[in-house]
Amino acid sequence: VGEFELINTFFTRGSKGDDVVLGIGDDCAIVRPPAGRDLVMSIDTLVEGVHFPHHTEPLKIGMRVMCTCLSDLAAMGATPHWFTLALTLLHAESAWLSEFSEGLFQIANQFQCSLIGGDTTKGPLTISVQVHGSVAPGTALKRGGGKPGDIIYVTGDLGDGAAALAALSNKLTVNPSAYAYLMKRFFAPTPRIQEGQFLSRKATAAIDISDGLIADLGKLCSASGLGAMVDVARLPISQHWRDQVNQEQALDWALNGGDDYQLCFTLPPTLVEPINQAVHKGQIRATPIGKLVPHSGVQLFHSGQPYQVTDHGYDHFG
Ligand code: ADP
Ligand code: MG
Repeated sequence: VGEFELINTFFTRGSKGDDVVLGIGDDCAIVRPPAGRDLVMSIDTLVEGVHFPHHTEPLKIGMRVMCTCLSDLAAMGATPHWFTLALTLLHAESAWLSEFSEGLFQIANQFQCSLIGGDTTKGPLTISVQVHGSVAPGTALKRGGGKPGDIIYVTGDLGDGAAALAALSNKLTVNPSAYAYLMKRFFAPTPRIQEGQFLSRKATAAIDISDGLIADLGKLCSASGLGAMVDVARLPISQHWRDQVNQEQALDWALNGGDDYQLCFTLPPTLVEPINQAVHKGQIRATPIGKLVPHSGVQLFHSGQPYQVTDHGYDHFG
């Protein structure tokens, strides 16, 4: 298909709200942000062979790029509104594009995020999505607001991303339902948008875990000018796979595995009780794993003893 036809057939889907003044088709899109709110934006790029394996089904690529990008808005406590898409493809194949756009819109629609423009070029498969969201002024969750003594929490389970990669490369054997769970977690990791919004005005700091807990909590700590003590025995790890590997492996994936897209956030001790109640009521899933401390670095403990690990998360240029 040609470029014009490609954009028209697969990516032009009118938006429902009147917040899109001018969508796909002109030199720029025009949007109308909700009155009085600050715009929040972030871009993510997925490269074939780096962020997803060669020959990954296009539906999964579409879902994953949208989920991972929205995860950054979640980490700020923002509400998603719009996104733009830069697509670099070797071949414009209808079947591929149809499935890819299906995956993309499945997630985007779920979060009421409309596609308002983009760019299409020829080259090795690379997908960039820029998301645009909003927050009430002064309410965004940032990395740098943590205070000594704040309790560190994570939403959901850790290590699923690494376990999924191990399952994909046949290094981990699990039953079919656990495999389905891991594939869903890897290719469509639910962006924690609801959780982020719930936590705004409550959490002192937040980050989404894309490079591994130690690496990302480390970034939250540096931004806050603090360190962390983490009790690895408290790390939430899914029953779907934890009994299939030894404890050290499970902890390594939970601590260093990337691709989890959970939120790591900190709460002042006064808010621990209200959050525990919200957890019991099922309003949010969150597990306390440690606390912020004055000195720097992430220190790990297990049953009161220091816990050693070697790896420190994924660094593209490391
Ligand atoms: P220009 O040359 O002015 O940059 P293009 O011809 O590249 O514009 O794009 C035409 C219209 O299609 C623009 O509104 C652009 O935002 C949109 N567009 C191009 N590629 C994509 C894409 N992959 N997804 C969504 N919209 C796209
Ligand atoms: Mg132009």
